[in-house]
Parts: sequence; C-alpha cells; structure tokens
Amino acid sequence: MRVLVIGANGKVGKHIVSKLKETGHEPVAMVRDTDQVPFFEEQGAATVLGNLENEIDQAFYNIDAVIFAAGSGPDTGADKTILIDQEGAIKAVEKAKQFGVQRFVMLSSMAADRPESAPTGIRHYLFAKHRADEHLKQAGLNYTIVRPGALTNDEGTGRVTLKEHVNNFGEISREDVAATIVRLLTVPGAEQKSYDLVSGDQAIEDIR
Ligand code: NAP
Repeated sequence: MRVLVIGANGKVGKHIVSKLKETGHEPVAMVRDTDQVPFFEEQGAATVLGNLENEIDQAFYNIDAVIFAAGSGPDTGADKTILIDQEGAIKAVEKAKQFGVQRFVMLSSMAADRPESAPTGIRHYLFAKHRADEHLKQAGLNYTIVRPGALTNDEGTGRVTLKEHVNNFGEISREDVAATIVRLLTVPGAEQKSYDLVSGDQAIEDIR
C-alpha cells in the first residue's frame, strides 16, 4: 500500500516509515521542512511537504492509507494542541474522505476515550485527542485508533499488550508502537476498532 505518514519526522513517525519499508509498503513521509527530506530519501522513502496549519491537499494524491502520527508536543500551549492534535487530525480525516482514501490509522493516546477523568494539566490534550478520534469514528472510513501508554525510546521487543481497554497506564517503546500500527494497517479484524496499547507478551506479528 502507498501510505501517507503524517508526522513522519517525529520519533514514532520515523519508526513507522522504516517499518512500512520493511514490510513492503510504500511510505510517503509528510514533512513540513525541506531540511527533513534527505533523511527519508536516503532510505528510499518518498516525501511530500505539508503543514497541518495550512493546505495539505497535495499530500493525498495516489494514497491508499493514512497514518496520523503528528502532535504539537508537550512544550506548546493548549492552542497548538487544539490546532494540531485535534483540528489537524480532523482536517486529515476530511481530506482522506475527499480524496477517497478509505483506510485511516490514528495514533491517539491512552485515556483519550475518557478525558474527563484526566488530571487538569493534560485534560485539554486528551480532549483534543478524544475529539479527533470521535470525528474519525463517524467519518465512514475504515479506521483503527491506537491509544498507547507513555512512550519510551527503548528498543522494540516485538511484543505488546493490545486490547480494547487496558487498566494500568503502562509504558511502550515508540518502535513497538510503530510496528503495531503498521501491522494493524492490513489486519482486517482491526477495522472499526480502537485499542489501548502497552508493552506485553503478545507477538506483534501474530496480531490478527
Ligand atoms: P514527536 O516526536 O513530537 O512527533 C510529532 C510530529 O508531529 C513531528 O514530526 C512534528 O513535525 C509533527 N508536527 C507537529 N506540528 C505539525 C504541523 N503543523 N504539521 C505537520 N506536522 C506537524 O512525537 P512522538 O514522540 O513521535 O509521538 C507521536 C504522538 O504520540 C504524540 O504527538 C502524541 O500525540 C502521541 N502520544 C504520546 C505519548 C507520550 O508519552 N509522549 C503517549 C501517547 C500518545 P516536526 O518534526 O517538523 O517538528
């Protein structure tokens, strides 16, 4: 599949692009700066320039699936969180609809399905993720929503806990998140599903 990766230059996004290459897909890395292009070209991945705050139509031509892995990050204010994590994600969903891209995988966050229970400091972030996820669910696309726990830069283990709901707010490596997302892209049973994701014992390659 030719897969548009939004947020490709991010720490999870880079793993997603390389896992897509490893599994025989054709990633198209959406980046917002020309300086970011060579990193992807060197691994034979296509790139397209796009900023979620502007027009992004150019990224959606000849695309079979979208993975949304962008986010404004922890150092910005609530305004940017709403602009990128919420409105940027909603814009990407609407563009997928407009361009007939049926498959959409959203990198969300654990607890985005219950933002009202979050501590005040991160409630706006979880509400932004929540609204984006709810928009995707209603969009009529073949969606999968992945809500990981706290992300680490540890090496991937190839094993995770992927469930509709996980009770403990555990950790997971960014590499394992990326591998799980790429796996779910082509698992028919993952369509119209939302999952929590933390480290665990389930082999990613066995996810059905
Ligand atoms: P990251 O390294 O900060 O990557 C975020 C990416 O989004 C960056 O590549 C950034 O582009 C891109 N981006 C930001 N604003 C954009 C815009 N206006 N247009 C296009 N792209 C834009 O984050 P990460 O560690 O990979 O995590 C990915 C996401 O996982 C987070 O954003 C968060 O929503 C979610 N998450 C995080 C945690 C956690 O523990 N940190 C837990 C659960 C879920 P640049 O490279 O150009 O800056």
